[in-house]
Amino acid sequence: MTSGNTPKYRPATNLVHGGTERTQWGETSEALILTSGYMYDSAEQAQARMAGEIPGYVYSRYNNPTVAMLEERLRLMEGAEACRTMASGMGAMSSLLFAPVQSGDRVVGANALFGSCRWLIANQLPKFGVETEFVDGMDMEAWERALSKPTKLVLVESPANPLNDAVDIAAVAELAHKAGAQLIVDNVFATSMLQSPFELGADWVFYSGTKHMDGGGRVLAGAILGPQKDMEEIIDPYIRHTGPSLSPFNAWVVLKGLESMPLRVAKQSENAAIVADRIANHKALRAIRYPGRKDHPHYEVHAKQMKAGGTMMAISLAGGQEAAFRFLNALELVGISNNLGDAKTLACHPSTTTHRAVPVEEQASMGLDASWIRISIGLEDVEDLTEDFIRALDSALGE
Ligand SMILES: *Cc1c(COP(=O)(O)O)cnc(C)c1O
Repeated sequence: MTSGNTPKYRPATNLVHGGTERTQWGETSEALILTSGYMYDSAEQAQARMAGEIPGYVYSRYNNPTVAMLEERLRLMEGAEACRTMASGMGAMSSLLFAPVQSGDRVVGANALFGSCRWLIANQLPKFGVETEFVDGMDMEAWERALSKPTKLVLVESPANPLNDAVDIAAVAELAHKAGAQLIVDNVFATSMLQSPFELGADWVFYSGTKHMDGGGRVLAGAILGPQKDMEEIIDPYIRHTGPSLSPFNAWVVLKGLESMPLRVAKQSENAAIVADRIANHKALRAIRYPGRKDHPHYEVHAKQMKAGGTMMAISLAGGQEAAFRFLNALELVGISNNLGDAKTLACHPSTTTHRAVPVEEQASMGLDASWIRISIGLEDVEDLTEDFIRALDSALGE
């Protein structure tokens, strides 16, 4: 089945057909195999399969045919050697951060990260005697200093939560490799459609399948893609024994979501670029951060790495938190939700929701304060979206 890391077809084709394995019934749609266990023809076969001497499934904590289809489809999409999926993005990220490290190791993260990723590095790894440090993602001198010591793992996100900060992935990859570290790129905001971290030197690519892959806000899922050898020797034993396994049903939902992901991401990114330009000069705004706009302070790095501006933007209201809340409460079409990558346009207030666990001083170090709103643009008619945002911005003025 697996064909190395040079897929025969292009990404959009792989996202429709990749990994499909049919049962004896020849079903058109991917089969949903809801089973925890598997039967053996003989005691000898059970023994050999359990020992890994012959192929085949043994238990759905290890793997499952529907989950395997998803892993192969994602592997082809990203052009990776290996893929494993987990019950949520954080199930995948925690496995990737915990399985390889031991006491005395060093892990460096970019300052701007998804709240829970930052929490794992700031609060959980140090409990196991792992030294951790955060670096301003755009400060190359700070990266050089942080990576002048031997390091095990480096985690970056670009564009990053919550303000779409950039990290120069190729430059950080080079420094990470000199320090003996592997670079993990959280590519959730960009998606595989708009940014290819392996081509920029990443060792691991991370996704939350909950976001653009599902695309309809239905299920949680997570994926890591990386080297076959490390996956088998380091990640597999860890996930088999800790059990963050993805449910076959959720894998099936994500499989079907992937079929339309290139279309959805292209349209959502196009909508986002239009909305950003239409609202950018509204007098209720203090700043807008959209990777595809030249007024983003990290525009050049984003333009070098991304094929388009993406589906996410952040806006800062001149009237601070009060104006930000007035804005959210005045939205009629757009929902207030911390989810993202959905067909529905969603907006949230990071400093009191997604990033509330990050102390205020650390929020400030990533440029975040209570004036910011994060917006995930969906598939609605862009005129309806623009009208809703402009009406809410007018209300935010409080006049
Ligand atoms: C959502 C998200 C995660 C975590 O994924 P879950 O599926 O919610 O566990 C990690 N990183 C980024 C950038 C995300 O948006």
